[in-house]
Amino acid sequence: MSNAATHHPALAAADPEIAALVGAEERLQAETLRLIPSENYVSAAVLEASGTVLQNKYSEGYPGRRYYEGQQNIDQVETLAVERAKTLFGADHANVQPYSGSPANLAVYLAFAKPGDTVMGMALPMGGHLTHGWGVSATGTWFRGVQYGVRQDTGLVDFDEVRDLALAERPKLIFCGGTALPRTIDFAAYAEIAREAGAVLVADIAHIAGLIAGGAHPSPVPHADVISTTTHKTLRGPRGAMLMSRAEHAKAIDKAVFPGLQGGPHNQTTAAIAVALHEASGPAFRDYAHAVVANARALADALLARGFDLVSGGTDNHLILMDLTAKEVPGKIAAKALDRAGIVVNYNTVPYDPRRPFDPSGIRIGTPSLTSRGLDDTHMPLVADWITRGVAAAGRGDEDALKVIRSEVAELMAAFPAPGLPL
Ligand SMILES: *Cc1c(COP(=O)(O)O)cnc(C)c1O
Repeated sequence: MSNAATHHPALAAADPEIAALVGAEERLQAETLRLIPSENYVSAAVLEASGTVLQNKYSEGYPGRRYYEGQQNIDQVETLAVERAKTLFGADHANVQPYSGSPANLAVYLAFAKPGDTVMGMALPMGGHLTHGWGVSATGTWFRGVQYGVRQDTGLVDFDEVRDLALAERPKLIFCGGTALPRTIDFAAYAEIAREAGAVLVADIAHIAGLIAGGAHPSPVPHADVISTTTHKTLRGPRGAMLMSRAEHAKAIDKAVFPGLQGGPHNQTTAAIAVALHEASGPAFRDYAHAVVANARALADALLARGFDLVSGGTDNHLILMDLTAKEVPGKIAAKALDRAGIVVNYNTVPYDPRRPFDPSGIRIGTPSLTSRGLDDTHMPLVADWITRGVAAAGRGDEDALKVIRSEVAELMAAFPAPGLPL
């Protein structure tokens, strides 16, 4: 019998096609080595909380100030989520309603800027996010995005360059954080520049929220005016987002999220966020966050020893950006071959990439998911070997070698059951 029939009986009976695909995805997530740094495995408790009858309830507004009746339980769920977020991150204020990271960031624009205003963030190809003012995003078309990057020689942010740009452009908002940044973010340095430039500093910690919660990365509190985060990356919650801020910005943030940008919050997601925040406040999560970083360091060392070029020369966090130029295998070809070998990564632009974004020079890998399954630093040389063999096999078009890796990966992963997945 398929997983779906045993674990989702109502779904299997009502819609066998979708049930079969869910079952297939469960097997895929169980058998593969998932290295996409923005992904993870949520706990069984988070998974259960995100699929409940809270789904059925409309609750526009905020606890105690709703536009619909019947909020006896929903108000308590949202209040718990808010209080847990504030306690875990030490923030004055938290809003747990944004549907995801991108709408959360859009709410920040709505709260602090007018269309046409100048905003500043890291350029997408340097490791920033679309929503930090990049041209193809609404944030880069409705606002005037000015963009900073990293230095070509070090792969690190040059704060003199950021300061010069901020003082010349006087942006309303300065975003720090990104999607492909392997190094510690110096929130204090950004805060000083934002203060000099009279800008609101937004720390987008979508990738590293779990590391911060677990004490494995410095906190943006008290440096940033606003903190934006997804809840589904290293934080190991459901797909969703939160905005946190100093008390003085609480009203502006809340008004921007609702009624500015959204309608009713997704209450089943709010409940699952509350559960994830509860899990992230325990000692086991501290160990998890530190293990994510230890694994990334060990994997980076093992990849360097095998001759790979890593942007910035290594990592301080959960993420490694590999430049495959010297291996003469384009990132996309490597990523697709590794996928066939049961190793799931994404192809990624590297800073100053001479290739195009849809066919770039690099791949991006991370350790949050494998750490959630209990792999430790002693496994990282083996993971690096698989990547080495997979990239070499991609270069010479050796499908048999990829199949051999796939079976080796599946064998190891079978010994490390994934949280939330049926055995
Ligand atoms: C993932 C991410 C987002 C967007 O999150 P979505 O939930 O995909 O909209 C925003 N900012 C950063 C830095 C991210 O890494």
